Amino acid sequence: MTETQQMMASSKAEANPLLKPWRTPCETPPFAEIAPEHFLPAFEQAFADHSAEIAAIEHDPAAPDFANTITELERAGKLLSRVSAVFYDLVSANSNPALLAIDKEVSLRMARHWNPIMMNAVLFGRIAALHENRASLSLTREQMRLLERTYTRFHRAGAGLDDVAKQRMAEINERLAHLGTAFSHHLLGDEQDWFMELGEADLGGLSDSFVAAARAAAEERGMAGKAIVTLSRSSVEPFLKSSSRRELREKVFKAFTARGDNGNANDNNETILEILRLREESAGLLGFPTFAAYRLEDSMAKTPQAVRGLLERVWKPARARALADRDALQALVAEEGGNFALAPWDWRYYAEKLRQVRANFDDAAIKPYLALDNMIAAAFDCATRLFGVTFAERTDIPVWHPDVRVWEVKDSAGRHQALFYGDYFARPSKRSGAWMTSLRDQQKLDGAVAPLVINVCNFAKGADGQPSLLSPDDARTLFHEFGHGLHGMLSDVTYPYLSGTNVARDFVELPSQLYEHWQEQPQVLRRFARHYQTGEPLPDDLLKRFIAARKFNQGFATVEFVSSALIDLEFHTQPAAAISDVRAFERAEMEKIGMPAEIALRHRPQQFGHIFSGDHYASGYYSYMWSEVMDADAFGAFEEAGDIFDPATAKRLHDDIYSSGGSRDPEDAYVAFRGREPEPDALLRRRGLLETPEAA
Ligand SMILES: [Zn+2]
Repeated sequence: MTETQQMMASSKAEANPLLKPWRTPCETPPFAEIAPEHFLPAFEQAFADHSAEIAAIEHDPAAPDFANTITELERAGKLLSRVSAVFYDLVSANSNPALLAIDKEVSLRMARHWNPIMMNAVLFGRIAALHENRASLSLTREQMRLLERTYTRFHRAGAGLDDVAKQRMAEINERLAHLGTAFSHHLLGDEQDWFMELGEADLGGLSDSFVAAARAAAEERGMAGKAIVTLSRSSVEPFLKSSSRRELREKVFKAFTARGDNGNANDNNETILEILRLREESAGLLGFPTFAAYRLEDSMAKTPQAVRGLLERVWKPARARALADRDALQALVAEEGGNFALAPWDWRYYAEKLRQVRANFDDAAIKPYLALDNMIAAAFDCATRLFGVTFAERTDIPVWHPDVRVWEVKDSAGRHQALFYGDYFARPSKRSGAWMTSLRDQQKLDGAVAPLVINVCNFAKGADGQPSLLSPDDARTLFHEFGHGLHGMLSDVTYPYLSGTNVARDFVELPSQLYEHWQEQPQVLRRFARHYQTGEPLPDDLLKRFIAARKFNQGFATVEFVSSALIDLEFHTQPAAAISDVRAFERAEMEKIGMPAEIALRHRPQQFGHIFSGDHYASGYYSYMWSEVMDADAFGAFEEAGDIFDPATAKRLHDDIYSSGGSRDPEDAYVAFRGREPEPDALLRRRGLLETPEAA
């Protein structure tokens, strides 16, 4: 580099907000200053810094000890974490073509950066030597856990392989990174391209709040004055539930389930086949017979057999319940004079009618009591009662979109504990679904670092200044993501690798799913479910019916879920060479398990971002149900104590689960909280699947 080049580079760096200290309140990312063109140079710098830090550990002439190897690894990569967190938040929640193009480049660069670190023989030699002698190192419990997790992480990435195998592993990882990004871009592409305009004649059965949301969605896409259905789940599901126009339901259902499977440039079929082949090959290099065997070794479940055992135990009663419900729905069709066999696009519509018959209850009746702000207040209040934390909105924190709100979280002594960002509304620049992530994780390696935690949802915005009204599903989602949020915000560990939600995949849904239980408690609903116009509390009979409805249609919901979990497991246990056509494989698997023809997978393979956008949930979709075994059982501890906010139980929950991150073995943590292993029937009971199906 010439001197002029150097000067230019350094003045560029000074202008890059990702590379400067953040002089914002709580040192949060200055979103208004950050532009897409800042990311590649920032990543460049972050990769270089991190590689230099790793090289320093690798070449340290001193014999390896915990401080110069494990602790230094924890210190390394600060800039990379900071840049990545901002980048992935924007790509997921507020993307644009420029960011998506950079995402392709970054995913490849990320794989190229991490491969040589995770397969660095000298570095792994240091870690392995410490691991070998771990009993004699006088480590704290958290340090011991960190050493074990670090060793496992490197070992499982292939650090112990020979050079030829490592080379191939690196190629595979790069290709998989590319394919995962392509998969999610395809899905987003198909979702963005499609919408269905609703004319005045097409509104039959739709609630006012749905129509208002459909108008807001049209306005968002520059079609003010019109109303549209989009392919986001929060648009599709209520439409299928309530539209009386059967041919429109069919059209929407088919478009929704065809995402990524349209034979266009966004088609994911070939992408899936290549992902499966490469995953199998990489598992083989590491000595595992299948990718599922590899992934599950490092989970609570441990083996594909254990996962299949749980899923099959749930499948049978769920399928039986769904088939009984199907007959009841078909009878309802006939009663109305319908001369057709129930189809997948009819299920939600007739189920909603059946619910009105059986429980005299529909979503539209409850929505006015579930205004977004009231449900946020409820989620906060439960956290205050359980864990003593308080929330106060801040308007001085920079955000990535005007809809994002920020709250400061303080502990019971009034000390700053975290910032919580809520990004609740659907928009075209946001991927579908709901998730929790962070801009900074809690740790206290070199002084306390307070976490910056994010919840993103896709709720329909209220039109014309009306508040956003949630469906019961939405309200549950809000509590679910907030449960993950608490796992990040209450985290109290020293080392970043063990922080918050960095736990086993089949444990990570425990704090989120457990939190959902409070949302449906009478004492919470009586206080917070108030009519958005009159302020009246939810009438008692509606409240009872609302709580009873939790068990309604659980055959359908369980079948939808378990079939997806089973196909995920089959994709990753059957030989990849035997799968040459994703659609044919899907058909064959559904036939094998006796999938009711009137129910579709919750995620068809071409849309199954959980398992194909990256490998996070690959052969891990069952995790939600594994965690549910625990959450159903865990809430029982409060019921047994006779108080859903029982202080002693809440303290154990805080200490053993919500604050301990990955610093403990998950099974030990659960047993410490509950005093015993979880009891699996609690799940079936909660879903009402142990009771005999009601007569139609
Ligand atoms: Zn979750």
